[in-house]
This record gives sequence, structure tokens and C-alpha cells, in this order.
Amino acid sequence: LNRRLDGLGTTIFAEMSALAAATGAINLGQGFPDTDGPEEVREAAVRALRDGRGNQYPPGPGVPELRTAVAEHQARRYGLSFDPDTEVLVTAGATEAIAATLLALLEPGDEVIAFEPYYDSYAACIAMAGATRVPLTLRAPDFRPDLDALRDAVTPRTRLLLLNSPHNPTGMVLNPGELAAIAELAVERDLLVVTDEVYEHLVFEGEHTPLISLPGMRERTVAISSAGKTFSFTGWKVGWVTGAAPLVAAVRTAKQYLTFVSSGPFQYAVAEALRLPDGFFTGFREDLRAKRDLLAGGLADAGLTVFRPQGTYFITTDIAALGEKDGLAFCRSLPERCGVVAVPNAVFYDDPEAGRTQVRFAFCKREEILREAAARLSGLG
Ligand code: PMP
Ligand code: GLN
Repeated sequence: LNRRLDGLGTTIFAEMSALAAATGAINLGQGFPDTDGPEEVREAAVRALRDGRGNQYPPGPGVPELRTAVAEHQARRYGLSFDPDTEVLVTAGATEAIAATLLALLEPGDEVIAFEPYYDSYAACIAMAGATRVPLTLRAPDFRPDLDALRDAVTPRTRLLLLNSPHNPTGMVLNPGELAAIAELAVERDLLVVTDEVYEHLVFEGEHTPLISLPGMRERTVAISSAGKTFSFTGWKVGWVTGAAPLVAAVRTAKQYLTFVSSGPFQYAVAEALRLPDGFFTGFREDLRAKRDLLAGGLADAGLTVFRPQGTYFITTDIAALGEKDGLAFCRSLPERCGVVAVPNAVFYDDPEAGRTQVRFAFCKREEILREAAARLSGLG
């Protein structure tokens, strides 16, 4: 393993899902739903396979049906206009979008400012690009970004802000004032911005506003999203990038040499999914809101400190109130102690001390599973 990937070993999601499989524990670790997405969307994938659409290499930027559907979705939901031919790129999940974007836009030695705790692929991709990560720590209890610290973190070497809202793992959602301040700073210091918006449809307090819709942002932002979380098909790995043509062209260049193209038949199905009526999206959100409340209540009853998320399908907790000192050790022992798997937030910080006693639980599971998990955890105290 080269030095750039030193210490990046096996992702915590792989470790904890393997632990769940080995022990039969309830897996509230890795974020994936235990119920698949809409039947009609699955049928659309079957139809595409059967009709021979996408069984051979699809076009590099993605099938036109999906690029058009992404552009329509951005217009319908946010009033944003993108040219499906030059301003939309289909990727193998948001994960590839992040990798291709960072590899395309960063020079070795560039600095990238990212919220911490961060989704783990950020650290790996910044490292693979030879760039330097500059964390902006979000702190409990509300995990709001410190805008003065953000301003101070910008140096002449800063190339890019890598933002994630709704934020995994804390559930923080950037508010209008924060978005405006970030946009202003990006313009003033001439920074590129990459926005990871995979939880755009999972906002329970306030609403999701794409940063790219703010003044001065259209030309400097690469916006990333994915079908995995919105439609409950995390295994399909269909994501996309939207932005100004020169930026999208750069990302496309990198993508060509990562996967060349993304898997075909699922693209047709996701195009149909994006056109589902508004009721689907609100129904999904309300379902997850109820699950958030259910699990938050169970975790609080079990004696954990709960930081109520405004979005995503994760709850960050603090286990110090249980007398626990180390989230990683806690998560490794949790299946044996009570048959539940969770994820330690410490691995999402550059300085693990900052998140030593934070533990994340996913609530994208059936109600009876959440109830059972809460019952099992109640034995901990
Ligand atoms: N970004 C964030 C913040 C995530 O939580 C995830 C996991 N869904 C991804 C990106 C990756 O998304 P995908 O599965 O589409 O690659
Ligand atoms: N995004 C999901 C999570 O945060 C899983 C991603 C992964 O397994 N790489 O749990």
C-alpha cells in the first residue's frame, strides 16, 4: 500500500457489517435500508434488462434518459436549470462522483477544507489526489459550522471546499445564513465548492437548499447526489454530478479512467424513479422522520445522550453518560453485550479524541427492528 493510503485500511462500514453478519446482531451501523425501494422502480430495471437497454456499454456521460431526468428533477425541485448534455454526468454512486471530482480538480499540495466528522471516502480521495485535508470541526451538541473558523482556515493554497449537507454522521443541515456566508467566502477567495447532497430528500427540520443555487455559485460548484439513499437502492450505485459545463467536463475526464461508464439498466430505472410524484418524496421523508423519533426516544431511554439530527438517516449519540470512554471499543463489544451494531464516529475525525465517545446509529430500518434494537440497548445502563 502506498503512503497516500497509509492508515486507511478497511472502512468502518465493512468492519461493522461483517461483525453484524458474524454475530447475527441488528445492524444499525452501515447506512442502508432493510426494505428495498419502490416496486415500480424495480420493475423498470427488470424491463430495461429484458428489453436490452443498457446491457452493453452505455454512453460515457450516462444514458440521455437519466441525464434528462436529473436535469428535470433539479428544475422541478429547486428551480435550477442544467443542460443534460453538458452539465450532468452519471457516476457509479456518489462515491465515484466524489473521487472523480477530487481527482479532476485538485493539484498535489492543494488544500481542501471539509467538515469533520466526514464521510470516510473524503479523506481517502483527497489523499489519492495528493492534496491536503484541512478539517473544520463540527462540535456537539448542534454541530453547526463555526463560520469564523472556516474563514480563518482559508489560505492561499485552499483550492476547494468539500461540503456535506444534510451531514453524515451528525444530521446537521446548513441553514440559509450559513449557506449565504459560505457562498460569499467562496466568491471572495475564488474557491471551488463540491457539495455532497445524497441526503437531499431526508430533511426533517427546515429544508434542503443546494448551495449551487446561491449567487456566484453556479460557475464554481460541483453538486453531487445519488439514487441510493433517496430511492432505497444503495446496491445499484447510480449517482450523478451537476454543475457548469467546464467543471463537469473535467469530472467526466477523470471518470472515464475510473469506471469508463456506469452500469446500464439501473440508469433507466433511476430515470423513472426521479420522475415519481412529489408524494413519494414526502412520504419517504415522513416515514423516516417517525423512525428518527422512535430510535431517538429508545436511545435516550437507554441512557445515551442523543443529538437529534435535522436530516439524514443517522443519529449521533454520546456514550459518556453510560460511563463508556471509547466508541470504537464500545461498538466492537456491542454485538456481544446486547446484539446491536453501531458505528464509532471517532474514525470520521482527524483527531479521534474529538469524537472519542460519539457513536452513530442508523434508523433506516423497519419499525419492529428499531423497537427491538431499543429494547436490547435498554439493558446497557
Ligand atoms: N456521501 C455521503 C455523505 C454518504 O453518506 C454516502 C453513503 N451513501 C455517499 C456519499 C456514497 O453514496 P453512494 O452509495 O451513492 O456511492
Ligand atoms: N453511506 C453509508 C454510511 O455512512 C454507507 C457507505 C459505505 O458503506 N461506504 O453508513
